[in-house]
Amino acid sequence: MKKMTTLGAMSLALKKEIDELRKGKMTVRPICIKCRRFLKPKKTGMYFTEGMPSGDPQTTQWMPYKVWSGDVWGCIGCGAEIIVGTGQKPIVEKHEHGFDDMRRRLGADKLMVEDC
Ligand SMILES: [Zn+2]
Repeated sequence: MKKMTTLGAMSLALKKEIDELRKGKMTVRPICIKCRRFLKPKKTGMYFTEGMPSGDPQTTQWMPYKVWSGDVWGCIGCGAEIIVGTGQKPIVEKHEHGFDDMRRRLGADKLMVEDC
């Protein structure tokens, strides 16, 4: 009977840990595999554009599609940088009013992700 109680307590602790992970309350910082180091936060609120292929088979050009904001983290070992913390919704999308203006005002064209 005592063993059952211990197992019950362990599963409760595990459940609490999983709940906290899901809520984003307990996360491990991003890790650089190459350098075996935690990345460090470098800039919060960096605006960038997600692109989409232009659709013209003659070119490989990308067109602005969505504007996002995220946080830049970097590795002091190798200089690699990543963007995390974008949330689930972009700030503005192409079909929405003021897309071009907002993109320019936020400086989101400095980085366009050219990948789908
Ligand atoms: Zn590194």
